[in-house]
Amino acid sequence: MHPLSSAELLTVWESGLNQGTDQQALRLLLAAMPEKTEADLKAFSIGERDYHLMRLRHQLFGSRFDSVSQCPNCKEQLQWDSDIRELYALGREAYPVQRNPIIQTERWTIRLRPLSHSDINALLQEPDETAKPEQLLRASVLAIKNQEDDTVAFEQLSKTDRNAIVNALQAADPLARVDIDLTCPACDHRWQALFDIASFLWAEINAWALRTLHGIHLLASNYGWTEQDILAMTPTRRQIYLDMVAR
Ligand SMILES: [Zn+2]
Repeated sequence: MHPLSSAELLTVWESGLNQGTDQQALRLLLAAMPEKTEADLKAFSIGERDYHLMRLRHQLFGSRFDSVSQCPNCKEQLQWDSDIRELYALGREAYPVQRNPIIQTERWTIRLRPLSHSDINALLQEPDETAKPEQLLRASVLAIKNQEDDTVAFEQLSKTDRNAIVNALQAADPLARVDIDLTCPACDHRWQALFDIASFLWAEINAWALRTLHGIHLLASNYGWTEQDILAMTPTRRQIYLDMVAR
């Protein structure tokens, strides 16, 4: 992963303002993974994209992170922290994603396809909101064959087949959904909070960018340096000057 300089990160941040989360994630990864094309990145499975975003988060801001959740039982605000390396560790063996895993159920051979964010966005355009899980499952199944190698209709899948498909997709794309186990300190209620790295990381970058621009403003006003000069400094040196200005 290409280490992004402050100037590069600011450029990506500016280009992603007022864009949707998927577009912001795409721009970040395009900058951080210059060896990949836009088409490569769009073909990433859901968990694969998030795996790389978590690695990028580690590189940019370190591995510790904290967040706030509200207990669904008693509404207590709970502050928690975690290590992002523990979250993305599952991805090391899974990615690059296996494009077309094949599973064998009792009656059928089923060829699968872990979905990408582009697939999900295409499905979200569909007018029928009620059939989402069914549509996702359908979109993940490329082919179903019987022992004679004839094509079998999706409707023929039993509940057991469907469960086998869901399990195989989870194994192929383990970071497609990242849940964090939480326990409420007030009422002991346990639940899982969904961790969405794309919006989490973008919020951090947004806060960082505003802080950085404010710092540039202070240093430029005090010393007459250009934005380029200031961004070329290491963050440590920039901070020392900022501390001097604040005194
Ligand atoms: Zn509680």
